[in-house]
Amino acid sequence: MKSFRAEPVNQFSLPRRIQRLGELAYNLWWTWKPDAQRLFRLIDHDLWERTYHNPVQFLRQVERAQLNAVAQDRNYLDFYDRIFRMFDQYILAEATWFLQEHADCINSPIAYFSTEFGLHETLPIYAGGLGVLSGDHLKEASDLGLPLVAVGFLYTRGYFTQHITEDGWQEARFQRLRFEDMPIMPILDEHDDPLTVSVELPGREVLARLWEIHVGRVPLYLLDTDVEGNSAEDRELTSRLYNSDMEARISQEIILGIGGVRALRNLGYNPAVWHMNEGHSAFMGLERAREMTAAGHSFDAARERICHSTIFTTHTPVPAGSDEFPLWLIDKYFSQLWPGLGLDRDQFIKLARREMSWGETFSMTLLAFRFAGRHNGVSELHGQVARKMWHFLWPDLREEDVPISHVTNGIHTGTWLARRLDHLFRRYLGRDWMDHLDDPDFWDSVENIPDEELWLVRRHLKRKLVFYMRDRAREQWLRDGIHPVQVIASGVLLDPYALTIGFARRFATYKRASLILRDLDRLLELINRPNRPVQIIFAGKAHPDDNPGKMLIQEVYRSVKKAENGGRLVFLEDYDMNLARYLVQGVDVWLNTPRRPNEASGTSGQKAALNGALNFSVLDGWWREGYNGLNGWTIGDDADQADPNIQDQMDVESLYDILENEIIPLYYDRSENDLPRKWIARMKASIRSLAPQFSMRRMIKEYTEQLYLPAMGE
Ligand SMILES: *Cc1c(COP(=O)(O)O)cnc(C)c1O
Repeated sequence: MKSFRAEPVNQFSLPRRIQRLGELAYNLWWTWKPDAQRLFRLIDHDLWERTYHNPVQFLRQVERAQLNAVAQDRNYLDFYDRIFRMFDQYILAEATWFLQEHADCINSPIAYFSTEFGLHETLPIYAGGLGVLSGDHLKEASDLGLPLVAVGFLYTRGYFTQHITEDGWQEARFQRLRFEDMPIMPILDEHDDPLTVSVELPGREVLARLWEIHVGRVPLYLLDTDVEGNSAEDRELTSRLYNSDMEARISQEIILGIGGVRALRNLGYNPAVWHMNEGHSAFMGLERAREMTAAGHSFDAARERICHSTIFTTHTPVPAGSDEFPLWLIDKYFSQLWPGLGLDRDQFIKLARREMSWGETFSMTLLAFRFAGRHNGVSELHGQVARKMWHFLWPDLREEDVPISHVTNGIHTGTWLARRLDHLFRRYLGRDWMDHLDDPDFWDSVENIPDEELWLVRRHLKRKLVFYMRDRAREQWLRDGIHPVQVIASGVLLDPYALTIGFARRFATYKRASLILRDLDRLLELINRPNRPVQIIFAGKAHPDDNPGKMLIQEVYRSVKKAENGGRLVFLEDYDMNLARYLVQGVDVWLNTPRRPNEASGTSGQKAALNGALNFSVLDGWWREGYNGLNGWTIGDDADQADPNIQDQMDVESLYDILENEIIPLYYDRSENDLPRKWIARMKASIRSLAPQFSMRRMIKEYTEQLYLPAMGE
């Protein structure tokens, strides 16, 4: 094993008594421990907000006098000591679930590859649900003590920040990340030079350097081609997520799949299991096959062995979610590789050949299936859809026997739960409630929480959301001098106590963001009734090259700007993990209107449910499993119409009817002390049934037992 080390970019000079804040800043453990975040916030609240909750940047900027002040403050120091006791116990924990249950496998590393990781708002290396899922996966793998190591990209320009013009058009701004402000550690070799891996691209070798991020106990390695020695163009290869340029994209995926395997080898890992989270990393199979054929195995023998240790999770039935490369590109990028594998062109192309309406392609999804022995979708319905969709790969099997199982997605509880609710759970479920997170029976004790107290916390969270929107609007008005109508569109007229509906997600057309606006007059009549105001908050980004998605934002924005809605329809710019936290914690109803069965799972509704919001959604993805008749509402039924227009019309009728006749009356049905007792009963039913079942804890245990452990056996 070569000698290397990872070291923080910054050595902070802090008062000795609170020196370990620097260490905490470089372990993302704090991102799922709201109490640990308070260690920074308590020093300088405004700076904490100004740095967007970034401890590294915070410690670089904070005034020495303020550090000195807390270093003398008994209360602060007690709190500090308590947090670091928790931190040390966590990092050193010897009794993790994995160790207790599967000690014999603790030396079998699991390599987890993903193009995006959503870990925190200050690390913009994610675009949406896939990234947040990967980030949550790492956090829970850390909590449970899995021997997992992850590989991804450090996108030097991150994902864009979104601005909406007065006319409702999305503008994307990419900004170069300031590495000195990020919790990343360059990996250096024995000469203190950046450790690099090299990957062959047509006519050249491209270098990628490596960065490490500590996610609790799990290391995440990020590749970055912005290295001396690469051409100016190659230095930009890993600067953005989901480049639409085909060559940039295939190059990225070669760097992830092939470079990622080499990176792990360089770092001394010999993974027992390889997990491809979506097909973008499928080239890893080629690199592992190259290693084995170089060692004397035939290609077929190599592929068989690779399959045994490899897992592929497919995440979407939407064609845009699957990378398809034209064959000329495959010739250009791989013709030098196939002889070494013992394959000719035909045999190579056949690994992933797919007939698309626009011609023959090389499909990353097919390649992933070809190199993985275990495959899964991300909800029960998605499993069914995937078996149908990929049946042609197993023509001899009946559709129901196609070997694609499912593990339904979940969310990392600590990351998404409001701090006040955590405190309430500690009081009424027990201080150790987190240890029982995925035990459904344990959650019966949610019924012990007094209605008054639960409602008090909910009101607090609703206020918090509204004040946050006002702060943002004020800041934007000050900074950018936006038009007053845009100020109103950012939520300044919202009433913290009115029934609030949230709709926040990527603006992909299948999610039908504008469905609820289809009969605008009917909607406006509903939301403006006396004594029963209803408000709707929209948020979400469209991919910068997705014009239909951007037009959808514009359509929503035009309704938002209409005076007739009284400021009750709102569009919030720049949906990210921070805004997502405010929304899932602060709204009453979480709306989701995908066109079935395109929402493979979805997770935002799970976050909302955990925090006491009620789901109101099409029976797609996770909600089809989560809905039990008592814990929210469904739009439409469990059947699909062939004609999308008829489907839309039926869904929108169902949506308005339930809103008018069930949701609004239930929310405003108040007993003594202005308590909506029946609403609260539903909230409890929702938390109780959904928090354990859609936790990342349940999900990681299923991945471990159904997929990882079997892949470890010989
Ligand atoms: C949870 C989350 C998502 C996923 O949302 P779905 O629409 O349910 O898939 C996307 N973006 C952000 C910022 C999130 O936090």
